[in-house]
Amino acid sequence: MASDALLIELEKVTRVYRMGDVQVHALRGVSLMVRQGEYIAIMGASGSGKSTLMNVIGLLDRPTSGSYRIRGTEVSQLSRGKLADLRNREFGFVFQQFNLLPRISARRQVELPLLYAGVTGRRSREMAEAALARVGLADRLHHSPEEMSGGEQQRVAIARALVNHPSVLLADEPTGALDSKTGSEILGLIDDLHAKGLTVVMVTHDPRVAQRAQRLIVLSDGQVISDEENGRKAVKWILGDAHEDR
Ligand code: ADP
Ligand code: MG
Repeated sequence: MASDALLIELEKVTRVYRMGDVQVHALRGVSLMVRQGEYIAIMGASGSGKSTLMNVIGLLDRPTSGSYRIRGTEVSQLSRGKLADLRNREFGFVFQQFNLLPRISARRQVELPLLYAGVTGRRSREMAEAALARVGLADRLHHSPEEMSGGEQQRVAIARALVNHPSVLLADEPTGALDSKTGSEILGLIDDLHAKGLTVVMVTHDPRVAQRAQRLIVLSDGQVISDEENGRKAVKWILGDAHEDR
């Protein structure tokens, strides 16, 4: 079935940041596969490499070594232009801090990725409006971020991530800046999008959030220390651990 198609394959991926004489090993040989239609949560302590992994998967950053294949094609050696095209086509990003531009209407924020993809004019407006409707903001097209709540701003960011119809949504702590009720609404929206076929990879600090996913990957010090379908066992373990600390 198409939903079982192998989308992403990382093999022994490392990422070393060089800062003067100091080397930071952000990823130390990460191997993992993502199939189409999966919903994966990534957890791990601060500094364990979660964002680096998301950036590598989403082609915002390159591995220092190792292999990365998307739909079977090795991408670690592609040119910048080819990477940008592939990134636009395959990935939508959502971050903790929304990353919206100030004083720009929701519709224009969502039209930006279309501009990079060469879509303009009426078609661009219509696609942006459709994306905003998908996230429940059909009545906020002309509002700027200053005129919207945090939850609405994150919905705009999700619409912007989805407007090019990517295969994968990469969400790096998407509820980290939201109160728990608004956070739940955003997670409900992501659940709906997943149910309609979107592949989701989400970084979270919250084991309860991770429990919504079908698979949980735990990173520690740049390595995968646990990767299981139905990560409830790992979540229980993490929750149990957290309770013992108090
Ligand atoms: P997480 O998202 O799990 O908190 P990160 O992937 O952001 O972790 O960071 C992993 C490690 O890499 C950390 O030690 C961090 O300080 C380092 N790091 C991340 N980005 C950079 C960068 N641009 N330059 C140098 N070091 C970085
Ligand atoms: Mg991070």
